[in-house]
Amino acid sequence: MATAYIGLGSNLAEPAKQIQLAVDAIGTVAQSRISAVSSLYFSRPMGPQDQPDYMNAVLALETELTPLALLDALQAIEQQAGRVRKGNRWGPRILDLDIILYDAQVINSERLIIPHYGMTEREFVLLPLAEIAPQLSLPSGELVSDLSKAIATNGLKIYGKLQLN
Ligand code: ATP
Ligand code: MG
Ligand code: MG
Repeated sequence: MATAYIGLGSNLAEPAKQIQLAVDAIGTVAQSRISAVSSLYFSRPMGPQDQPDYMNAVLALETELTPLALLDALQAIEQQAGRVRKGNRWGPRILDLDIILYDAQVINSERLIIPHYGMTEREFVLLPLAEIAPQLSLPSGELVSDLSKAIATNGLKIYGKLQLN
C-alpha cells in the first residue's frame, strides 16, 4: 500500500462544485481509499492572468495502484468532468488532478514526473499539503511544513470545507 498526495484545481463551471465532485470521484477509484482531505482553497491564477480565479485542494490517497495506473484513473476523472486539453498551458480548466507525491518515489518518465515538478513553488499545493501532512518530507529531505512557511501566500485563502462521503 502506498500513500499518494493528489493536487486538485479548477477555475471553470463552478470550481468549488468541481473540486467536491472530484473528491467524490477519487473516492471511487479501485484499490484506493482517501485518508485525508484539505480545506477548499481560493487562489489566484498562475501564468495567464486573464482567466477566472481557482479553487484548489490536496488529498491523501492510500492506494494499491501503481503511479501510472493512478495517473490513468485521475485522467479518466478529468475527462469525465469535461476537461478539454488545449495547447495553452496553465490556461483555464474544469479540473486538473496532479500526483504531487507517491510515497518517497522519484519518477522521471515521459508521462510522469514525481514529485510534481512545480510543488515547491506553488502555494496552492504546499499550503493545503501542509494542512494535512505537515510532518511529511520530500524525497529530497525537505519538510513540507518548512517549505509551506517559506512561501508567499499570493492571495491564497481557505474558502470552505470539503466532504468525505
Ligand atoms: P502543470 O503540470 O504545470 O501543473 P497541468 O497540470 O495543466 O500543468 P496537464 O495538461 O494536466 O498539465 O498535464 C500534462 C501532462 O503532464 C499529462 O499528460 C501527464 O502525462 C504529465 N504529468 C507529468 N507528471 C505528472 C504528475 N505528477 N501528475 C499529473 N500529470 C503529470
Ligand atoms: Mg497542474
Ligand atoms: Mg495536470
